[in-house]
Amino acid sequence: MIANGQRKGVAMGDAMRFRSNVVWMGAVVALIVLSMVNVLLLSSCSSDEQAAQQAQSAEPQNAEAQASASGESVTQTEGDLSENSSESSSEGTRHVASGDYLFLVNRDEENAIPDGWLDSIELVEVENQLGETYTVERKTAEAYESARDELEEEGIHACLNSAYRSRETQESIYAEQAESFGEQYAADHVAPGGHSEHETGIAIDVILIVNGEELRSIEQMEAHPEELEELDRVMAKHGFILRYLDGKEDITGYDPELWHFRYVDDPEVAQEIMSQGITLEEYLGKE
Ligand SMILES: [Zn+2]
Repeated sequence: MIANGQRKGVAMGDAMRFRSNVVWMGAVVALIVLSMVNVLLLSSCSSDEQAAQQAQSAEPQNAEAQASASGESVTQTEGDLSENSSESSSEGTRHVASGDYLFLVNRDEENAIPDGWLDSIELVEVENQLGETYTVERKTAEAYESARDELEEEGIHACLNSAYRSRETQESIYAEQAESFGEQYAADHVAPGGHSEHETGIAIDVILIVNGEELRSIEQMEAHPEELEELDRVMAKHGFILRYLDGKEDITGYDPELWHFRYVDDPEVAQEIMSQGITLEEYLGKE
């Protein structure tokens, strides 16, 4: 019994030492883990962003494939634009948070397309009534399709006429116009590369088709004031503003365009801008 008890006592002592060793080892491991987590937290700002951008940049092809497979409809996906923030600015270049559609792009040097914007968005394809396919930023495409469908129910046929352009396309348009009409004409009428709203994917040209006629000029559009007014109203209701207004050429740098809509996301903001008849420059206090 004694021997057993002693053995038992020894065994119990070992077990207690073992437990206390476990506690110490646990504490040491916890400290190591904590310090590793700390290091990760300190370095996560840039690595998370890169990972998020890599994940985003892999998506457009899938989305395009899905969109083209299902005709005109744009697939509703996870809606993660707001999660992928590229807000931080390190080298003085201009960044916007993904999901922030209220940034200014115009001819001014400081208003180029924000750095990283194109990496943070998803481009999808939208087919118009004429069988033409255009590339549009996903949320902009969904908002446009809602507006177009609403107009269609009223018997008004809106037709997508232009959307995303690559930097290369914009530069070649500029070069062609300069060659055909002179450098001054190109400078007055075409945005230089990096400064066109069409390069953002969130600007679209929308024309009307009335009685089979495609209204492509200001004169043609103005001949149908009721349809035009309804186009503007419904587009604003879905988050779009007209960007180049009559009488605001000095601010926007462009002649009026009744077809060039810019997505700003928040319908309340769009409706406020449109009802006041102001430009995005004025709304943002950057005229
Ligand atoms: Zn346009």
